[in-house]
Amino acid sequence: MSDATSFDVIVIGAGPGGYVFAIRAAQLGLKVACVEKRATLGGTCLNVGCIPSKALLHSSEHFEEALHKLADHGVNVGSVSLDLARMQARKDEVVSANVKGVEFLFKKNKITWIKGEARITAPGAVEVAGKSYAAKQIVIATGSSSIDLPGVTVDEKQIVTSTGALELDKVPGHLVVIGGGYIGLELGSVWRRLGAEVTVVEFLDRLVPTMDGETGKMFERVMSKQGIKSKLKTKVTGAKADETGVTLTLEPAAGGEAETLKADVVLVAIGRRANTEGLGLAEVGVALDERGRVITDHFATNIDGIWAIGDVITGPMLAHKAEEEGVALAELLAGQAGHVNYGVIPGVVYTWPEVASIGETEEQLKARGVAYKVGKFPFTANARARAMGDTDGFVKILADATTDRVLGAHIIGPDAGTLIAEIAIAMEFGASSEDIARTCHAHPSLNESVKEAALAVEGRALHI
Ligand SMILES: Cc1cc2nc3c(=O)[nH]c(=O)nc-3n(C[C@H](O)[C@H](O)[C@H](O)COP(=O)(O)OP(=O)(O)OC[C@H]3O[C@@H](n4cnc5c(N)ncnc54)[C@H](O)[C@@H]3O)c2cc1C
Repeated sequence: MSDATSFDVIVIGAGPGGYVFAIRAAQLGLKVACVEKRATLGGTCLNVGCIPSKALLHSSEHFEEALHKLADHGVNVGSVSLDLARMQARKDEVVSANVKGVEFLFKKNKITWIKGEARITAPGAVEVAGKSYAAKQIVIATGSSSIDLPGVTVDEKQIVTSTGALELDKVPGHLVVIGGGYIGLELGSVWRRLGAEVTVVEFLDRLVPTMDGETGKMFERVMSKQGIKSKLKTKVTGAKADETGVTLTLEPAAGGEAETLKADVVLVAIGRRANTEGLGLAEVGVALDERGRVITDHFATNIDGIWAIGDVITGPMLAHKAEEEGVALAELLAGQAGHVNYGVIPGVVYTWPEVASIGETEEQLKARGVAYKVGKFPFTANARARAMGDTDGFVKILADATTDRVLGAHIIGPDAGTLIAEIAIAMEFGASSEDIARTCHAHPSLNESVKEAALAVEGRALHI
């Protein structure tokens, strides 16, 4: 093997797991190559996930503000119209700047980008486009793809995955979203704001079912107030697309009489599955679990020298979880003590209001039999939220009844995704609710609601 084809480590996939792993490993002095089959770096997250969806969420928020909110602030903008082509072009510019940023970071850290689809031919050996590469260690960071729904054939035009839903060149009259998870609700919000009628069909009895129950109920109310209709406890059994649109066949989840629902565009967002096909895993003997994810123990697979991180292994399918794993594994391979605290990984739904959660829900604490106290504070009582005109929602902090240690927090409200970071740090430091309550928070800020919720744990909130 020449110097150009032999590495300390080859990581397969340049998503937030793979590219962050590559940077950290290079920082620690390892000779790193990253294989990516997509034309650009950054994986699902930067190309067709987190970043384009947030660009469209922001743009559509501005549109809705101009249409419905600015006049209340005394800002009259005259007639407002949508230039969807410009909005989409701006989203593409944001994506392009981000993926080029990763390319720059690869050059800066002297990471070799091998372009093409990788297959592991043996421990320590990877093949890309008919060429062989050697590495002491191999990391699988191949991410995930949208799950198909039987009977519903995706064409990325009328029946789309999230990738197609980010590219629509016309606002659909009626968008039906199959799956009430965060991806469906974020993209449903985008198109609802831009003028579509939106219906979410969900098999279970609630939207984002993993969410803390009380927060989830409020979230459903807010979504419904915004005009997003939901059909819960309903399953989609088929879809027929023609020039007039898509006709979906629905049935009650528990079985019963079928009905039809007509849509212009259908978004299938029922979850994501690990990308393990074509990687040669069966031939090399890498074990997968019942859901097709690579089985790992501290990122090690059952085969020596082969590791895995990110969406392709167990745990929440989130970019920051993949990044944390990338850093931890790079540090482990460089002889350090890499570690991820899975109890403190925030989850955010970037609708407006946003929903953010961390740690355990009330339902989980009850199931574990943990005695806990609840401190809650509504944004209606927060001066900054009132000044902004964004008072929907609350902050809820759950603390251990005996030790007062913060066990979880659930926020629905303006900028919840930013507010949750304060609680993540508190939880990393093993803080009590009193630690947060006794920390000086700037006034007037949304963060004061976090402090007030912490005060409310002991029944001593000041502003309510
Ligand atoms: C619409 C949408 C919105 C999202 N929004 C958020 C959000 O707001 N926040 C959040 O935290 N998460 C979000 N996610 C999830 C997030 O994108 C993923 O959790 C994250 O990208 C996982 O990172 P990863 O590195 O494991 O894999 P990926 O980002 O999927 O990257 C894997 C890469 O591996 C490449 N690859 C696969 N197989 C091979 C092979 N054999 N050879 C070479 N290359 C290969 C793929 O082309 C891909 O680029 C969103 C996802 C979607 C779809």
